[in-house]
Amino acid sequence: MQILLKDGILLTADHSPKKMDLFIDDNIISQVSDRIRVEAEYVINCENKIVSPGFVNMHTHVSMTNMRTLLDDMTFSKFLDTGFKLDAVRTDEELYYGSKLGIAEMVRKGTTTFLDMYYGEDIVAKAAEEVGMRSFLGWSIVNKNQTTQKGEPLKNAENFISRFKGHELVTPLPAPHGIYSCDRDDLIASRELADRYQVPYTIHLSENRREVYDIVKKEKKRPVEYLDALGFLSDRLIAAHTIYVTLNEIKVLGRNGVTTVNNPVSNMKLANGNFVPVIEMIQHGVNLTLGTDSAATGNSLDMLENAKLASLLQKNYREEGQALPPSQVLDFMTKNPWKVLGKNSGVLKEGALADITVIGGGVSQIPLREGNAERVLIYSSSGSDVEQTIVNGKLLYSQGKYLGLNLEELRMKNEEIFDRYNSLIYS
Ligand SMILES: [Zn+2]
Repeated sequence: MQILLKDGILLTADHSPKKMDLFIDDNIISQVSDRIRVEAEYVINCENKIVSPGFVNMHTHVSMTNMRTLLDDMTFSKFLDTGFKLDAVRTDEELYYGSKLGIAEMVRKGTTTFLDMYYGEDIVAKAAEEVGMRSFLGWSIVNKNQTTQKGEPLKNAENFISRFKGHELVTPLPAPHGIYSCDRDDLIASRELADRYQVPYTIHLSENRREVYDIVKKEKKRPVEYLDALGFLSDRLIAAHTIYVTLNEIKVLGRNGVTTVNNPVSNMKLANGNFVPVIEMIQHGVNLTLGTDSAATGNSLDMLENAKLASLLQKNYREEGQALPPSQVLDFMTKNPWKVLGKNSGVLKEGALADITVIGGGVSQIPLREGNAERVLIYSSSGSDVEQTIVNGKLLYSQGKYLGLNLEELRMKNEEIFDRYNSLIYS
């Protein structure tokens, strides 16, 4: 497919947005310049719109999208208990339709790549493949005695990784669930598995006070120090949350080149009571990214909502209006993820993968100029302002039309599933 994006304001990697044309040939950005004169199958008029590298959602549990609102407004421990109870009874079909729904919401809101953590990732892979979404799928590893998955989590993870390794759009990886749900051996084996297959690996880390308290009591070390002593940390690790970390832990994360994922909506909704110390992490060389967490925690998969809140939280807490400006948050959701995910994407330049989001044209984007385009995107826009989402050179969403997704079927199936879960929990 060839797509020509005309007259949009392009968000460039050096943060000097500029009105230009962009030409996509097959799955690659083949030309970026002031005026491109070529014949293309699709020509999209991007006048008064923002053309951004596609958003990368670095922490999701996408198959849980049909559990939306079921786990609202409860204590964190009740949330975990109820969530695990539902995890144990979910069928493959339920995971499949939940995944499709989540992917539909993500393409609607400008996400072109997501990084997932759950069991049954082969089913998520099928859903993502059918739509044409780019995905990094982490098979959840939980201690044998605690898991709700059939068989041994580590073996399941390895089977999944060996099956999908080398796939064009799906990158499989191990996802040890957390330091409270994995023991030492699980953590070490997960790291070894990632090393063996040369893939990233992801974990929940320091998401709530209790987790920190328990490990300090048991191991006499804080979570990051505990993982460092195990040899678990590396520049292929993606740690989600990291809201309770000391300055020393930040330095350890930076020294090991770890990537962290900021999930402000999920943390606030679950009343975790803290947020990522972003400024200190940047100072000490931690690679920062952004995620939504699942729709069962954050309720929507809107990266722009998370981007705005990530910035506002820093400003408000530090009483510094200049803290975490849109240029930096934009890097969290476009450029930075690829430092660990390892593909040539996240920038609008020739030769990069054509993962692109077009936003705007609505009242929230007026007045739009080259000089304020990043601020219009992060502070004034929401996922609903996305007009086109292009993944690997294919137009997956365009002005209300979805490629390869039947919304009526998704509604019907997911509402049936929701009703079943609802009666399981609340009757
Ligand atoms: Zn999570």
